[in-house]
Amino acid sequence: VEALNRADVAVVGGGPAGAAAAITAARAGFRVLCYERGRLPRHKVCGEFVSAEALDLLRSLLGPQRTQAIVQRAPRIVGARIFLDDQVLRATLPQPAVSIARFDLDAELWSAAQEAGVETVAQTAVQGVRGTAPFHIQTSSGVVDCGAVVNATGRWSNLTGAAPSAPAGEKWLGVKAHYHEAEPPPTTDLYFFDGGYCGVQPVALAEDKFRSNRVNACAMVRADVANDLPGVFAKNAALRERSRSWTQLTEPVFTAPLVFREPRALHDGMLCAGDAAGFVDPFVGDGISLALRSGTLAADSLLPFLRGETTLEQAGAAYLASYQRQLLPIFRASSGIRRLLRLPRPLRWPFLALLRRAPGLTQQLVQRTR
Ligand SMILES: Cc1cc2nc3c(=O)[nH]c(=O)nc-3n(C[C@H](O)[C@H](O)[C@H](O)COP(=O)(O)OP(=O)(O)OC[C@H]3O[C@@H](n4cnc5c(N)ncnc54)[C@H](O)[C@@H]3O)c2cc1C
Repeated sequence: VEALNRADVAVVGGGPAGAAAAITAARAGFRVLCYERGRLPRHKVCGEFVSAEALDLLRSLLGPQRTQAIVQRAPRIVGARIFLDDQVLRATLPQPAVSIARFDLDAELWSAAQEAGVETVAQTAVQGVRGTAPFHIQTSSGVVDCGAVVNATGRWSNLTGAAPSAPAGEKWLGVKAHYHEAEPPPTTDLYFFDGGYCGVQPVALAEDKFRSNRVNACAMVRADVANDLPGVFAKNAALRERSRSWTQLTEPVFTAPLVFREPRALHDGMLCAGDAAGFVDPFVGDGISLALRSGTLAADSLLPFLRGETTLEQAGAAYLASYQRQLLPIFRASSGIRRLLRLPRPLRWPFLALLRRAPGLTQQLVQRTR
């Protein structure tokens, strides 16, 4: 890194949003640096549900060969089952989705970025960003100047400010691990309970010889309700029963806090993408899609500035406008459904009874989140 003292764009964060931004800017011919504080591949708290929309974007970012390799081994998800209050609601997905382990997905995107000409710098945290156009990027290896910065550091980081505080009794955490299950159904299954829910779906790793017997269990749970996966499984009778035959394949990974706030696409002169801009409730399964879309959009919005045709401010304003038009509606739909599912049991019961009597409504509910 010392040799590099100037880049057109610095992308901070090597998740889906950062990779999408870096690939897009590099393909347009600009010099891009992408910093990731961790190491890839790595397991990540995520339901690993990749919607049909996300797949389309992946195709263009990864290119046909990488997409083919990753999609070929990815279990197809054709339906959703919602286990709530001893009832099961079923829906088919309007378009089949796939299940891709973040262990493989993020590493493929990182490699695709390198192939596109991005200078990738792993195991290097950006400690601070000062100035505006040029920005000064501070890492343990020194300072690099660049024309624009995309903040793709995830839900919260040293670049987005202090971790948001949650009121007592409202501290949520995410936890995930892979398990062996003999024959998982091709559905994404959501097990709800008071104080959280757990998603279960089949998933495959590149290293798997037998493709059909790994499931991902990923929960979002209130810290006072459970703080590990066995604790989560005990909270829903159907899940408790199902998980009895499982054997654990990966060490659990955790993340906290999970706090929802109004999306913020611009911050301190940086264009924010993915979770750094806004965190969408995981059960809608749109986080990866939003990360890829906003990362691409952020880089596209910067191009006129990088070509010297506009100011950085104008590029930021264009990004904000596109973000609000294209992506904000997804946040609105998910927060409405979240409120509904978090109603106390006696209040949500009539709603559930209605859904059971009219399966078309369940279908519409699932469609609303897609
Ligand atoms: C419980 C749970 C379940 C979920 N399930 C799904 C699902 O099934 N489907 C779906 O689509 N989405 C799901 N999501 C959401 C999805 O995981 C995120 O939306 C997605 O990871 C966002 O990508 P990103 O690139 O914005 O952030 P991230 O993937 O978080 O990447 C950010 C990266 O930035 C790096 N970083 C942070 N700070 C710095 C720094 N200072 N310097 C350098 N690097 C830094 C981090 O190490 C990290 O690798 C789920 C989320 C949770 C919590």
